[in-house]
Amino acid sequence: MTQLSKALARIAPSRTTAITDRAIQLRAEGRDVISLSVGEPDFATPAHVVEAAKDALDAGDTKYTAVVGTQRLREAAALHFKRDLGIAVPPSQIIVSAGGKQAIFHALLATLDPGDEVLIPSPWWVSYPEIVRFAGAEVLDLPTDAAGGFRITAAQLEAAITPATRWLLLNSPGNPTGATYPAEELRALGEVLRRHPRVLVMSDDIYAPLRYGEGLHATLAVERPDLADRILTVSGVSKSHAMTGFRIGVSAGPAWLIGAMGRLQSHSSGNPASISQAAAVAAFEGPQEFLLDWRERFRARRDMVCASINAIPGLSTPIPDGAFYCMVDATPLMARFGDDEALCLHLLESGVAVVPASAFGGKDGFRISFAADEAKLEAALRRIAKAVA
Ligand code: PLP
Repeated sequence: MTQLSKALARIAPSRTTAITDRAIQLRAEGRDVISLSVGEPDFATPAHVVEAAKDALDAGDTKYTAVVGTQRLREAAALHFKRDLGIAVPPSQIIVSAGGKQAIFHALLATLDPGDEVLIPSPWWVSYPEIVRFAGAEVLDLPTDAAGGFRITAAQLEAAITPATRWLLLNSPGNPTGATYPAEELRALGEVLRRHPRVLVMSDDIYAPLRYGEGLHATLAVERPDLADRILTVSGVSKSHAMTGFRIGVSAGPAWLIGAMGRLQSHSSGNPASISQAAAVAAFEGPQEFLLDWRERFRARRDMVCASINAIPGLSTPIPDGAFYCMVDATPLMARFGDDEALCLHLLESGVAVVPASAFGGKDGFRISFAADEAKLEAALRRIAKAVA
């Protein structure tokens, strides 16, 4: 007998369970499976960050902190928002949470009621729709495709907004597509939003430091300061500093929303881990030069992966602007394989684990993560080419 809540029943089991289970089984049988399904950098956490965590332990930083994060880290996060995103925000309008994920969870739970609608461009990050449904609200899919750069248009946004719309979730650079929004497109979206004062905007910029274009990353809070009282910008150290295990996210927004998220956080997790917070201070305030090297390596891998995929008959991918994912279209292969999950299971039997597009609300393709070393990527691409030949 199970006694699950109605709220939990609204959350779908992971769409990738069949593939994950089979990957575990294959590995247990001693088969060599290259995983290109991970969502974290393969690089080691920078040494100065690890040192800061050790120092915090030695200094006895092992007790509760303020629920919304230490003043020290909120100040360091304010530096990060200004330097890396161009957003000027006081530490009092920043909340530290257990990863970007918790910030998104708390923001949505603190503001959504049954009957509310949330606009999510697809392909989307897997957790967005599930959190929305858990909160009792409705997901409204704004489909995007490779031809449109995996970005929504102002006209598409305008047509989708109803009196029930409560949030637009924007993710740039995006997971799983790597797409980023240029400043002028953000301004155009902002113009639509200006006419709909009830709509809040989540700008999930967690991958911003891993962007391959020139200049500062464009973000809505900078392009449309007139909307500042309803934009929540989500960032963190998980992806930019290879600190996924530390569980630290930082978000900037209007005082009313940051306060509401803090209220919820005070009764859910309480403060994020004190040691991780000390490490995140070092991440934001310490040297950033390592990122130049990481970006170069990611860029080279991206170019190699895209060129190899585009040379395989039946597969194609645009070149992503940021993050470390390629969204591969496999439409021509669907007649042979049925659907993208069947294709991914076939690739798995051939020794490569990737995630079907349908897990992200897309279709007929799969996501490759290039957060794996060059030799592994090359071997995996040879296997993919052979498997679909
Ligand atoms: N937002 C996006 C788009 C992500 O891809 C992820 C992680 O995969 C997160 C947020 C959450 O990151 P964190 O590990 O900091 O919770």
